[in-house]
Amino acid sequence: MKFLRFIENNKIKTGYFDGEKVIELTDSMEEILKNWDNWKYMSKQVKMSYSLEDIQFAPPTTPSKIVCVGLNYKDHAEELNMELPYEPKIFLKPPNTVIPANATIGYPKMSNEVDYEAELAIVISKSGKNIEMEEAHEYIGGYTILNDVTARDLQRKDEQWTRAKSFDTFCPIGPFIETEMDPMNQAISLKLNGEIKQESNTSNMIFSPKELVEFISHIMTLNPGDIIATGTPAGVGEMNIGDEVEIAIEDIGYLKNKLL
Ligand code: MG
Repeated sequence: MKFLRFIENNKIKTGYFDGEKVIELTDSMEEILKNWDNWKYMSKQVKMSYSLEDIQFAPPTTPSKIVCVGLNYKDHAEELNMELPYEPKIFLKPPNTVIPANATIGYPKMSNEVDYEAELAIVISKSGKNIEMEEAHEYIGGYTILNDVTARDLQRKDEQWTRAKSFDTFCPIGPFIETEMDPMNQAISLKLNGEIKQESNTSNMIFSPKELVEFISHIMTLNPGDIIATGTPAGVGEMNIGDEVEIAIEDIGYLKNKLL
């Protein structure tokens, strides 16, 4: 099921996309994610339905944190001539970076090199700490698409990655949370102004979503709505002002944003 949040009459609403239209639901995304396997019995449908073209997307969740994984694709490690990591290398993006599908990424004055990174993102459904791999599926509500926008010049210059990864608007996510898909076998691609720049499959990931949930939750408590970005495949590159960037993940859909 493809759940989403959207803005109607200045209010954030929740719904799902049935392939043709968006059906509004009464419950919040947090409540739906908690009960996603039997949401049908928990959440009432509002009689309103909308066409996907007419709605303004909101970010699918309001995460308390976005935990990102660096270098998690074999093809990206090969491209960089780097050895495969023996444990995930993680960093954070703050919640101020989040924008929805179709919103504008701002080009910061401090940077002269802003890159795209197409990523599959895990959406956490309930609070958990010290989660074991075998029980990780109970804490994963679904998956969405994420662009880990990075000021590459500042990342190289600073010892810490915080500045390079944290500008407002540097984390487009959405539009949908897909609750039923195989995260380890998804075509993932990125187009810049219609030209393919990244093309891979999530089967090239080094650490699986379950391994990442285990590893990260042994460091910090994961909260409902939190996002884990699972890393980017080969083909990372630069964007310029006016560019349109579109990420596709097979079973989820498209995340499109413009850079201004
Ligand atoms: Mg990344």
